[in-house]
This record gives sequence, structure tokens and C-alpha cells, in this order.
Amino acid sequence: RIVLGIESSCDETAAALVTDERVILAQRIASQDEAHRPYGGVVPEIAARAHAERLTPLIEATLGDAGMTLDQVDAIAATAGPGLIGGVMVGLVTAKALAMASDKPLIAVNHLEGHALSPRLADAALEYPYLLLLVSGGHCQILLVEGVGSFRRFATTIDDALGEAFDKSAKVLGLGYPGGPALEQLALQGDAKKVPLPRPLKGSAEPHFSFAGLKSAVLRAKQSGEYSDADIAASFQQAAIDCLVDRLRGALAKAGKVNALVVAGGVAANKAIRGALEELAAGHDLPFIAPPLGLCTDNAAMIAWAGMERLERGQSDPLDVAARPRWPLDPEAQAVRGAGV
Ligand code: ATP
Ligand code: MG
Ligand code: FE
Repeated sequence: RIVLGIESSCDETAAALVTDERVILAQRIASQDEAHRPYGGVVPEIAARAHAERLTPLIEATLGDAGMTLDQVDAIAATAGPGLIGGVMVGLVTAKALAMASDKPLIAVNHLEGHALSPRLADAALEYPYLLLLVSGGHCQILLVEGVGSFRRFATTIDDALGEAFDKSAKVLGLGYPGGPALEQLALQGDAKKVPLPRPLKGSAEPHFSFAGLKSAVLRAKQSGEYSDADIAASFQQAAIDCLVDRLRGALAKAGKVNALVVAGGVAANKAIRGALEELAAGHDLPFIAPPLGLCTDNAAMIAWAGMERLERGQSDPLDVAARPRWPLDPEAQAVRGAGV
């Protein structure tokens, strides 16, 4: 079976064709980094217009790459939230039109579920349940993934996501946008012990993340003129890692038996973070699984795969399914103060 996946919830316009054998037949991603760079962050109106202009040709090109027509696809899956409503609407409406025209089932995918299940697309041996660290530009969560649509959330951020903190700290250091990868490179030349930075909420009873204070501390360190940019970058990255590892230890203690420690989301591209998580997993006798980098940042293959997992369980959605700008994976999540979902 083959699912066409569509992603448009943030600043990547993407389409992909994925089989039930975990083969990505074709995928295309149009990034909008250039369009948003002058503003140092994603501008929703610019994003929505870019998705509207690019999505349909992108889907046609993706089908063309695979030498396929829509008739050969078994279902159409699109991100229906959470994300920027304008972009989500473009993707979902396009998917509905294609589903209607081709008389194929529509699957409304939660973007976070796409990230959460992406490791299973990359690794056929990964079985539920697993503990997932989802770290991206908009999210920072620890989830117990028990199955399709079945999640328990142990932690989320009460202010900034980690990718956001990387991007804002990179901006303070004059590294441009998106700054996460550049900050990681700069950190390689720095000393992580040079700049005293806070570890927000470390050891607190509240199992959540907070990165706004860390970002402010980076700004103060820069303004003080006492430290090199490389030392600030390295110290920031280490503070972030300490927070992740501290909260993951707590979650591992609470989760019961899991099959693996898994990381997903754009920040999972960070090699220092991967290294720390690998070490943590080894200490708990768990395999550490990180999808290839191209599956970590926003993409449509993960949306197609989440759609495939739902299709295989006989699930699909009505054509009037609504876009949901806010859509937590865990129903209890709505109760969390300031939760970023
Ligand atoms: P969402 O949060 O809705 O999934 P997004 O587009 O912001 O959307 P991703 O595409 O998954 O998220 O990830 C992008 C983020 O990952 C950016 O904040 C970027 O700076 C960060 N990032 C990418 N590579 C690295 C890296 N090597 N180190 C640290 N952060 C990185
Ligand atoms: Mg992005
Ligand atoms: Fe994402």
C-alpha cells in the first residue's frame, strides 16, 4: 500500500509517497528559510502564501518522481494541526480536494504524531512502547509512545521550545536564522565550563522544561563582554543537554518498561545532544534510536507514515474534518499551564 503525505504546518512545504514496507518512493521539501530570514523567525502570513503557491506543483512533482498517478495511491494523509493555521488549512484543503477527486480515504494527521512515529519509519524493529524526546522549533516534550494515538506526556515546556532557544541564542550571537546548526558548529570551538548559565527547573518537582531564562542568561553573558561567543555557545548547549538528561531520567523512572529511548524533531540533528542521549540510554540498558536527519526536521514522509499506521488500523477521517491549530497528543496536556501546544 502507498500513502501520499502532505506537510504544511510551519515553514516547510512537503509531499512524500511512502509504502507499508517503509520505502520512501519519492519526497520533496520546499523550505521557506529564505523568505523568513529577514524577520529572524517564521511569519505566518508569508508562510501561508508560500504554501498555497507551492503545494500543488510540489505534489505533482513528487508523483512524477515516483512515476505514479494519484489513482495508484491508497490514501492521502495531511497534517491537520498543530501549527500555523493558514499553512495547515492549505495542506488539509488540498488533501481533501485530492481525496474527493480520486475517491481515496483522507487521513488527518497530528504533526506531533508524525514526529513521534517517524522513528518507526526508519527502524522496522522499533516496537511500542518507547520513550520519546520530541525537540523541535515549536515543541519540547517527553512522551511515552504506547501506540498509534496513544501517548502519555511526562514533560513539556512552560515557555520556549528548545529549538526556539537555540535560534534566539544564535541570534544573540549574530549567527543568523535558523541558528541551531550554526550554534552547534560554534560550540565545537568553545569551552562549556566557561560561562555560568542556569539549568532552569533542574531537580524541581514540576517535571517540565523552561528555556526562556536560559536564553536571557545567554543575552546577559553576551552583553557583559566577558566571554567569547564560542564559550557562550558551548555553555548554552551544555545547559540545554543537562536539562534534557535530568528530565529524561525522571521520565525513565516513571515510564515502566520501554523498548527504547528515541529522539525526534529538528533539534535531534544536534550531535552533542545525540551523544548525551546515547550515553543515557546505555546507562539504562536501552537502545537509543534517532531517525536520519532528514526525517528529524519537518518532512512529509513522517506524515505519510503516520497516515499509513492509521490506514493499517482501518482508520480514516471524514472530508469535513477540521484543522486544529492547537492539538495536544495527550488529552491531559490541555491542563498544563502555558503548554506550547
Ligand atoms: P515544529 O516545532 O512545529 O515541528 P519546526 O519547523 O520549528 O516546527 P523542525 O523543522 O522539526 O521544527 O526543527 C527546526 C528547529 O530545529 C529549529 O529551531 C532549528 O534551529 C533546530 N535545529 C536544527 N538543527 C539543529 C542543530 N544541529 N542543533 C540545534 N538545533 C537545531
Ligand atoms: Mg521548520
Ligand atoms: Fe515539526
